[in-house]
Order: sequence, then C-alpha cells, then structure tokens
Amino acid sequence: MPEAEDEALRRLPPWRVKPAVFLDRDGVLNEDAGYVHSPDQFVWTENAPEAVKRLNDRGMLVIVLTNQSGIARGYYSEDEFRAFTAWIGEQLAVHGAHVDATYHCPHHPDHGEPPYRCVCDCRKPEAGLIDMALADWSVDLEHSVMIGDSDRDIEAAEARGIKALKFEGVDLLAFLKQNGLV
Ligand SMILES: [Mg+2]
Ligand SMILES: [Zn+2]
Repeated sequence: MPEAEDEALRRLPPWRVKPAVFLDRDGVLNEDAGYVHSPDQFVWTENAPEAVKRLNDRGMLVIVLTNQSGIARGYYSEDEFRAFTAWIGEQLAVHGAHVDATYHCPHHPDHGEPPYRCVCDCRKPEAGLIDMALADWSVDLEHSVMIGDSDRDIEAAEARGIKALKFEGVDLLAFLKQNGLV
C-alpha cells in the first residue's frame, strides 16, 4: 500500500478514535534480560501474548514505546532492531494477537557515537515517543493507559496526562484484569 494511502487510513475520523494501551517492551511484554535483541534471548512475560490479544479484541490500540539504547551503545543496529520487532510480531500472530505500532528511542546521552549519542526528546522519561504515536494515530487519550515497569515509563505518560500503571507482577493478563482493562 502506498505510504500516503496508509497514512490516510491510520488517521481515523473522530468517530473512529480509539483508546490506546501504550506498553513498554522489556519487563512488560518480555522478560528484561538487558538489551534483548534476538529470538534466543526473548522470553514472554507470563500470558503476554494472550494479554495483547484481549486488548486487540476490546478494540484498543496496542502501541509499544521502548528505549533501545543498545542501538546507541552499538550492541545491535537499527535494522536488527526492526527485524527483531517484526519477529516479535510473527510470534504474536501465532496467538492471534498483534501490536499496532512500535516506536523506539535509539539514543543515549552518554554512550556511543553521534547521531545516536545525543540528548533527545524521545528517550523516556521524555514524552517524545508518545508524541510520535499521537501524530500517527487517532487516540482517545482520556481512556488510554501506559503500562511500564520503570519510573521512566510512568513519568513519560504523566507528562502527557496519560494514566500510567506500573507493572511489577509476573502475569500481564492478570495485571490487565486487576486493572479492569480486559
Ligand atoms: Mg522496561
Ligand atoms: Zn531518543
């Protein structure tokens, strides 16, 4: 599909505005083993695919917002990150689930080389990743929520007035149920 047409479809008219669940990736969708970037390192948190499917079924947008300073640090490239993101999508599809979009920050203020070594506005707790998502999608912010395992996730959401929940548990589906999201 040509990009412009795709863009038009994604910019839904107001009556198609949807609530979003913004998910941090490492520590929420998958176990945070530190700079996870390949299938052999990837372990779902408990019931994560089912949790995403339930959000899909409720008609909520599922948007992943993830700091990936491993790119700045030279542990993996942006292309490798994108290929890995596609692989995660394939694993979700096995469960009938999908992530609508993933936005990442490849930067770090101190590590690596420019252009990745920089003070950016997208590395959480900055809210730039949220702004990127909001530029692309018609989101009902009032009924949206961020789920993260770090204070940075919470701060980023609160900077845009989005409700934020800290996931410290094990089972993502149980967490969604406890918080009345599914
Ligand atoms: Mg995390
Ligand atoms: Zn950034």
